[in-house]
Amino acid sequence: MKFEDKSLSCVDCSEIFIFAAGEQQFFAEKKLTNVPRRCPTCRVNRRLIRDGKDTGQCTDVKCEKCGTSTRVPFKPTGRKPVYCIPCFKSQSVPVAAGDSAPPTEATIFHDGE
Ligand SMILES: [Zn+2]
Ligand SMILES: [Zn+2]
Repeated sequence: MKFEDKSLSCVDCSEIFIFAAGEQQFFAEKKLTNVPRRCPTCRVNRRLIRDGKDTGQCTDVKCEKCGTSTRVPFKPTGRKPVYCIPCFKSQSVPVAAGDSAPPTEATIFHDGE
């Protein structure tokens, strides 16, 4: 069975989030029939509440990459960029191989001589 990324709407914040093919496969392997109803951010928040952690310690930040506001359970130092969970995840995905490097400015410039 082939899985495809699905867009779902979070029941807490109504944000659209991606239920990735890999996650769907994980769910299927675990025989989980329910789909996630919350976006990753809300899931993290709920987990913090369940663990008795005060989400009041969460800091509202803007994602460095896409500009979405997100909450992180720590105080950003300002020295490291902060990403929302989807961007953070995509950061760790290796760049697709096989892309040939575009010609550099220098090679174009010297071509006409
Ligand atoms: Zn949400
Ligand atoms: Zn982002």
